[in-house]
Amino acid sequence: MTVAGARERRVRTGGVELCVVELGETGRPTVVLVHGYPDSKEVWSEVAERLAEHFHVVLYDVRGHGRSTAPAPLRGGFTLEKLTDDFLAVVDAVSPDRPVHLVGHDWGSVQGWEFATVRRTEGRIASFTSMSGPSLDHFGHWIKKRMSRPTPRRAAQLLGQGAKSWYVYLLHTPVLPELAWRGPLGKRWPKMLERVEKVPAGDYPTASLPSDAAHGAWLYRDNVRARMRRPRTDAYAHVPVQLITPTGDVYLSERLYDGLELWAPDLLRRTLPAKHWVPRTRPDQLAAWIGEFVTAREEPGPAPERAGAGRYADRFGGQLVLVTGAASGIGRATAFAFAEAGARVVAVDRDGEGAARTADMARLIGSPQAWGECVDVSDEQAMEKLATKVAAEYGIVDVLVNNAGIGLSGAFLDTTSEDWKKVLDVNLWGVIHGCRIFGKQMAERGQGGHIVNTASAAAYLPSKSLPAYSTSKAAVLMLSECLRAELAGRSIGVSAICPGIVNTNITSTARFAGVDAAEEKRRQERSSRLYGIRNFPPEKVADAILEAVVNNRAVVPVTPESKGARLLSRFAPGVLRTLAKLEPRL
Ligand code: NAD
Repeated sequence: MTVAGARERRVRTGGVELCVVELGETGRPTVVLVHGYPDSKEVWSEVAERLAEHFHVVLYDVRGHGRSTAPAPLRGGFTLEKLTDDFLAVVDAVSPDRPVHLVGHDWGSVQGWEFATVRRTEGRIASFTSMSGPSLDHFGHWIKKRMSRPTPRRAAQLLGQGAKSWYVYLLHTPVLPELAWRGPLGKRWPKMLERVEKVPAGDYPTASLPSDAAHGAWLYRDNVRARMRRPRTDAYAHVPVQLITPTGDVYLSERLYDGLELWAPDLLRRTLPAKHWVPRTRPDQLAAWIGEFVTAREEPGPAPERAGAGRYADRFGGQLVLVTGAASGIGRATAFAFAEAGARVVAVDRDGEGAARTADMARLIGSPQAWGECVDVSDEQAMEKLATKVAAEYGIVDVLVNNAGIGLSGAFLDTTSEDWKKVLDVNLWGVIHGCRIFGKQMAERGQGGHIVNTASAAAYLPSKSLPAYSTSKAAVLMLSECLRAELAGRSIGVSAICPGIVNTNITSTARFAGVDAAEEKRRQERSSRLYGIRNFPPEKVADAILEAVVNNRAVVPVTPESKGARLLSRFAPGVLRTLAKLEPRL
């Protein structure tokens, strides 16, 4: 293992010798990371390095993998019972007096479910974090239930998972998998992982891959059929479980975990927009979630409060979200919605006091940490400074919401170039700076993320009274679409939110070109009244923003008038051109 400070030892058990590596101080809580198929312990190196700052981290090569020896004969040497013996031998060696926190990925998680549900490990495990590997027993019951009462939905779920399990059938054929792995497949696998799974190239997978994969075929052959036929009926987890589900996993359906609370009563669910190999593609997020889960279970006292209780707590808990224009209106409501979901929030606004107030409130309603920052989004240098500070002190932003914006009303011929400059500086350049500076950091980190830009229905709704504002928002919409295409390959989603009329402060600060100060004030008051009568709350826009991130939506019209305008702009643009000529009654 190439990680600095790694200490290696050998543990003998049941006729094999396991290669075990430890990182971090031994007095701290122990986290044991178990790898999957076809992997070795090195799949965890990125996560282990991060966890070792706070924990005693232990990794081992499963029998027949990496630098551990293989059982002889291979057949019958990989049963879950024998793998449980190995786990207990490792735990006895590295943490004889204290239960360990178990983390498993893929087959490491399949094993982890066995460890966490059998009697003889009781008292030896403090918690279990599972990713991309269900319990074979739970899976067996899942199938039986759907076969015995096959409603159309259940049949579709069965077929869906059946199609995703093609490789399991192949691995049950004799000799062929071994030949393939030791031949062409073994050679091509690293490139396939890089291309299909977006696993960054580097020192993983290791040179032992062909023999790991050949030996590991016995994991399937020794266990799958037996457990599918006769799943254990007592497979209840005796430890708290954190389930991390990558939503883009091509091998496992999310539906497999429906009803898991029956088997694991103390269950915390997390979802991640990622493919199967999360230990390589999302090490920051995994280390943060594992660290949080372990720490909460180590602290003495009553059962820990779960951070965030909102609808999307499973998705955003612990993530870092930066919202601009967060002192008021849609930005403030968005910061609160993310806070409710347990995200860490950076509230940015040119109104520093307002941003600080939002951060204070965010902490009160569920955000584990929140900060207010006073920055003008149109000031490129200030935005650069902000990004440097945020990266150094709080981390790389997972979700960026470029929301700050100002209103400007008035005919084109009444709008001065100074007016144009102001509105474009904030509404367009503010978004460009945010996307460029924070988007670059996200892309360089290589672990995905999401950018939301607040455009407006005005982006596709021409009007003779809002030429500058609408132009700025149309540009934001197109920028979002272009950026979405560019960043898709880096797992960074981009969404443009297009609200219609929302009851916020924007009307009382919006400029009206071509009228004197008294008339401007009158129009501001009148439009504020109209927006108040319409009374669409900013909280509903915030909900749409979180939903857009979760489902990676491209363009999201919010409010009925915005949805209607979007449809007309596509199917009957002539109608909108006629409406555009109407005199606004402000
Ligand atoms: P708001 O006035 O309530 O909030 C806007 C916030 O942005 C304020 O706190 C303000 O201080 C901040 N801000 C303005 N310029 C800034 C700058 N240069 N740097 C940093 N912060 C700045 O308005 P809102 O309605 O919540 O607007 C939020 C976004 O939604 C804007 O982009 C707006 O164009 C868009 N929008 C609003 C509506 C609506 O009806 N309210 C409709 C469509 C789109």
